[in-house]
Amino acid sequence: MSDAAFKSILEARETGNGIDRKMAEEIASGMKSWAIERGATHYTHLFQPLTGATAEKHEAFISVKDGKPMERFNGSALVQQEPDASSFPNGGLRNTFEARGYSAWDPNSPAFILDGTLCIPSAFVSYTGEALDMKVPNLRSLQALNVAATAVAKLFDSKVSGVTVNVGLEQEYFLVDEALYNARPDLQLCSRTVIGHTSAKDQQLSDHYFGAIPSRVALFMKDFETEAYKLGIPLQTRHNEVAPNQFECAPVFSEITTAIDQNMVLMIVMQKVAEKHHLKVIFHEKPFQGINGSGKHCNWSMQTDTGVNLLSPGKTPMKNLQFLSFYASVVRAVRRHDYLLMASVCSLNNSYRLGGHEAPPAVMSVFSGSTLSKVFDAILRMEDMSEPAETKRSIDLVKSIPAIIPDNTDRNRTSPFAFTGNRFEFRAVGSSANAAGATYVLNSAVAESLKDFRARVDALTAKGDDLDKAVFTVIREFLEDAAPVMFEGNGYSAEWLEEAPRRGLTPVTNVPTAFQAFRKPESVRLFTETGVLSPTEIDARVEVQEETYVKKLQIEARVLGDICLNHVLPAAVTYQDILIKSIQGCKEIFGEEYKQLCRADIETYRKIAGYINALSEDTQALVNARKKANRMADMTQRALSYSTEVMEQMVKVRDSADNLEMLVDDALWPLPKYRELLFF
Ligand code: ADP
Ligand code: MG
Repeated sequence: MSDAAFKSILEARETGNGIDRKMAEEIASGMKSWAIERGATHYTHLFQPLTGATAEKHEAFISVKDGKPMERFNGSALVQQEPDASSFPNGGLRNTFEARGYSAWDPNSPAFILDGTLCIPSAFVSYTGEALDMKVPNLRSLQALNVAATAVAKLFDSKVSGVTVNVGLEQEYFLVDEALYNARPDLQLCSRTVIGHTSAKDQQLSDHYFGAIPSRVALFMKDFETEAYKLGIPLQTRHNEVAPNQFECAPVFSEITTAIDQNMVLMIVMQKVAEKHHLKVIFHEKPFQGINGSGKHCNWSMQTDTGVNLLSPGKTPMKNLQFLSFYASVVRAVRRHDYLLMASVCSLNNSYRLGGHEAPPAVMSVFSGSTLSKVFDAILRMEDMSEPAETKRSIDLVKSIPAIIPDNTDRNRTSPFAFTGNRFEFRAVGSSANAAGATYVLNSAVAESLKDFRARVDALTAKGDDLDKAVFTVIREFLEDAAPVMFEGNGYSAEWLEEAPRRGLTPVTNVPTAFQAFRKPESVRLFTETGVLSPTEIDARVEVQEETYVKKLQIEARVLGDICLNHVLPAAVTYQDILIKSIQGCKEIFGEEYKQLCRADIETYRKIAGYINALSEDTQALVNARKKANRMADMTQRALSYSTEVMEQMVKVRDSADNLEMLVDDALWPLPKYRELLFF
């Protein structure tokens, strides 16, 4: 494309201003030639509706003019599309009879070619301009953050004229052999197992974690990494995770919009490549009960347009007022909106994961590490503090091994929100989620906090304080505000779960209840004042979340019922039949002595009969619980009922099924077991 067209894209990215239609024509024509040269036949706007997945509707470049076929792609097709998108969840923002929705090109994120289709990352809005996707609120939150953060950064460097967010998303996932996957209706329909007894050996020995990558998996990884590189996704790390058959990959961090779009595409690419290897990738947060689930740790930092990471403490954090200002503003934001932030990662899937098996607890806290904690303590006590000794420490091992210089911060796996040296790691984000669902809340909260920071500093300097003193005062005030959420201990411990509420932090104990956090006055104020969501958009989002929760759980409950009736019970009854024939045969030959000879079989028969009866009754009770919930017209009430009564009934059903798995002849068991699914 022309120099001018190229510059207009760069400018749009920097300033956030639109690209005019004439330039769009040139850009479209450039993109078309580029794509067609590389074998593309179609183009699509790729958007991120509230389903949490991506959506695409391909259009061929080919069109007919004066009876002749020709390849066309013009500026308006690039800038805007109008998919008939009436079936996407919209939380009442659109009626089906006025289904117009628009997807609009997002020049912040690079276009790419996937399977012969030019994919154009896009936003998705309603006819009346309401956000119907995950991208729009995130972009709006970045605008708010940019303004607020630039105003604070300017206190320290007048040359700063913009602040962006960088994100690195670690993607955890499970791999399962495709044939075994296809033999599990629950994995096929729910991406998680709704029954399944734990394997005698799973992750107890930590022998999978960081272990040698199995060859079959290494081939798959190499293959999907190559495909990712072709799309410009810079994958960097790969390793075995804690649970058997669980793995992780992470790209080099990048600007947030690109990072999130690329993560969404990465999940698609991984699944496509897995097909060639006869594998299935499971992105679900908790596919297997009793072992670790999967997260999408969101590494988050802010950077100025002059290239400075605003969360980098440097060698002397105590004297780094800029770092302290931004750090204090983030942790105060987390304190103010602790429950909302936790709610932002809540979903049915993630509710099975949080709070168990090395997953962060469902209550917010911030881990800073001992070095910074000492700095903050000194600030709060208004003590002058020389730099902590740790910064100069080195660990000497043996002469032949170079000395190790430890990081300024240690690590804490138990914290949902941990500082890791030059960024925060939001660890509670779920592996299958679109990370934007969490980041737009975090960005908004930090924007609000930074705005307050600057306003407070201005008020103090107006009263005559010099700038450094004013900044320091506000840092202290913000750290004081944030104190309740600052926690260096073990987030998994029972003591913390007791202490957190005493500090005024609210744990998430029920997911549909957590969704209501978005409707609280302080949240509505946050989103409206930052311009991220209107009250109608907030309501729509909560409604979509509730509905999705109910539908997913309804599917799980149905699948559970089907599996129990069609797989588990018939297998158990067949085995009972074998047992009873054996007992009868014994009686015919040995007479009354059979009671003694067959006592084990009789006992097994009794146990199985007990579980069969319990399973039948509980499955029926599960149907009733679902029916009762479905009768509730109010979606909030229905979601609550699903999260309590339906869920409790599912636990009972599963318990009997898992017990039967232990008793019934393995040859008769119709489903692949955990020990088969989890090991290659
Ligand atoms: P961990 O040891 O926490 O598992 P990984 O290497 O798996 O770390 O992932 C760390 C992620 O954080 C990577 O995507 C990396 O690029 C990203 N990251 C590093 N520095 C920053 C930063 N300043 N801002 C945002 N993300 C960052
Ligand atoms: Mg990692």
